[in-house]
Amino acid sequence: MGRARWIGASLVAVALTAGACGSSDDSGTVKGGGQTATTTAPSFAAGSTMATLQAKGKITVGVKFDQPGFGQRNPTTNDIEGFDVEMAKLIGAAIFGGKAADVGSKVSFVESVSANREPYLQNGTVDMVIATYTINDTRKQIVDFAGPYFIAHQDIMVKASDTTIKSVTDLNGKKVCSVTGSTSATNVKAKAPQVDLTLFDTYSKCAEALGDGRVVAVTTDAPILGGLVSTSNGAYKLVKAPFTDEPYGIGVKKGDTAFRTFVNDTLEKAYANGDWASAFARTLGKIGLDTPTPPPVDRYTTTPTTAAATTTTTK
Ligand code: GLU
Repeated sequence: MGRARWIGASLVAVALTAGACGSSDDSGTVKGGGQTATTTAPSFAAGSTMATLQAKGKITVGVKFDQPGFGQRNPTTNDIEGFDVEMAKLIGAAIFGGKAADVGSKVSFVESVSANREPYLQNGTVDMVIATYTINDTRKQIVDFAGPYFIAHQDIMVKASDTTIKSVTDLNGKKVCSVTGSTSATNVKAKAPQVDLTLFDTYSKCAEALGDGRVVAVTTDAPILGGLVSTSNGAYKLVKAPFTDEPYGIGVKKGDTAFRTFVNDTLEKAYANGDWASAFARTLGKIGLDTPTPPPVDRYTTTPTTAAATTTTTK
């Protein structure tokens, strides 16, 4: 990471750390930027994933480690911070009891890149994936999703001085970077078939390629790009020409309906009691996003057939 980007990332990290402070009152709720949560451990049906995780005293969650605002390693403390991380802590608190702000030791984070999210769920490396993970019918063939808990839209990031790229079709014939195993790569090829696409495993590598001129644009979801813009020290800008809908889900093992229902219940409680909005303001809010209305969760009951599968909903 270049010096300018490291400084920008540190500022975000400091802001996030400051926002994480809170004080308890007699009711066991946390005030002043913290989150409310149950104080006693609930009991779960024997054999359920929730009961198994509670007995183990640990949940392992796949998150991004290089996406400011969603999941990023704080270079000073080594903590992983961001909105996806906060969602994981809310679910941890619902399993183990206590407050989301204090459940940290029981929530273990594993770096997940876009291409290993399904394998990590399938082979049990992680219990959940919360990693800017778009819900779609193709992925539903092999994993299940709670949520959505946020709706993003794919966009484009260019150098601040660029005046030539105004929409996705302007990417035809241009060197553009995205990530292996992402909907972003599939979508850009569909919308700009003549794009000259470079694929890395992470978006931070794409940002570096934009910096040294190997590519002229990076494409993925706007809030991911927004995080990279905010740590670029003015070098990059968002084109603001959204061209897809990306509903973010919490990936769980295929067929674990009881766990998926529990995660959906936990999200709905966090929507209702303000914890979701508080988590958003303390993370993505710090990179300039206004807190939106949370999307309704989708408690789907049938898996779409492969033939009907689409990669994403496009506008
Ligand atoms: N949301 C998109 C996806 O799930 C792009 C972001 C990412 O790769 O994490 O593929």
